[in-house]
Amino acid sequence: MQSNGTIRIAIQKSGRLSEGSVALLQSMGLSFETYQNRLFAPCRNLPIDVLFIRDDDIPEYVADGVADLGIVGSNVLDERGAKVRRLLPLDFGFCSLSIAVPEQKEWRGIAELTGKRIATSYPATLRRFLTERGVRAEVIMLKGCVEIAPALRVADAICDLVSSGSTLRMNRLRVIETVAKSQAILIGSTTTTPVKTAMLEKLLLRAEGVQEARKYKCIMFNVPKESLISIGDLVPGSRSPMVIPLSDPAFAAVQIVVSEERFWDVAERIRSLGGRDIIVSPIEKFIR
Ligand code: ATP
Ligand code: ZN
Repeated sequence: MQSNGTIRIAIQKSGRLSEGSVALLQSMGLSFETYQNRLFAPCRNLPIDVLFIRDDDIPEYVADGVADLGIVGSNVLDERGAKVRRLLPLDFGFCSLSIAVPEQKEWRGIAELTGKRIATSYPATLRRFLTERGVRAEVIMLKGCVEIAPALRVADAICDLVSSGSTLRMNRLRVIETVAKSQAILIGSTTTTPVKTAMLEKLLLRAEGVQEARKYKCIMFNVPKESLISIGDLVPGSRSPMVIPLSDPAFAAVQIVVSEERFWDVAERIRSLGGRDIIVSPIEKFIR
């Protein structure tokens, strides 16, 4: 473990989580090089080093305190049971760990897996799932290419990560059970030193600010002045909206922030209040 105040953040070197991880760190204001075959990059503007490693190694690096923070799929965390703090779900890297069987097989429920061979790279998670449901099946550990195990008659079923399902379809398999849902998570070490605490708290706040911003949209529009009285109702609970006078005294420009899930309701309501020229923009950071 390091004794100076430099923070180390471990992210996947090359794979499905790499792009999202780099994008998050850059949005948090970290400036670093990302060219290929880098194992390590110091940040130009902060006392932070970014480590590029295999995703499977990230939980151990963080648990051992070699890295202070890491970004990894919850599927890997669940499998490894590493002692780390789960700080923030990151809304990317979505997938499911699912059990699939050959397409033509009839399926009458989970009990049918009894006595069957299931190939997986996630034996611990699968065993827990089967035990909870009282199913005794043989778990076959494979490091990769799990999806071809049924065709090779190495297994009767597989338990693997699925997102779009295209790999399964290509191998004539279909999902029959979802074992766990997964997404990328920011994790933190439980053994960090006091000298790093302030910077770690700052980084977590920044990550939360980036995540929060992704859930909201900024809406600007022009509205007849007599409708202004109803505008406050559009965003209940928030501070009063920004209202800007226009050269036409009958109108005002208004700026509000709304959550993605309320967006269409609010936009339709703005129209019904006579709102026009509605401009919607994403928010890069949102700090309350
Ligand atoms: P590494 O060389 O780092 O070990 P890998 O082959 O294990 O790479 P990837 O296939 O890049 O890893 O997957 C990394 C993570 O991306 C997974 O652990 C999971 O959290 C997430 N993920 C999202 N969608 C999928 C998917 N369809 N298949 C596999 N992983 C997915
Ligand atoms: Zn991996």
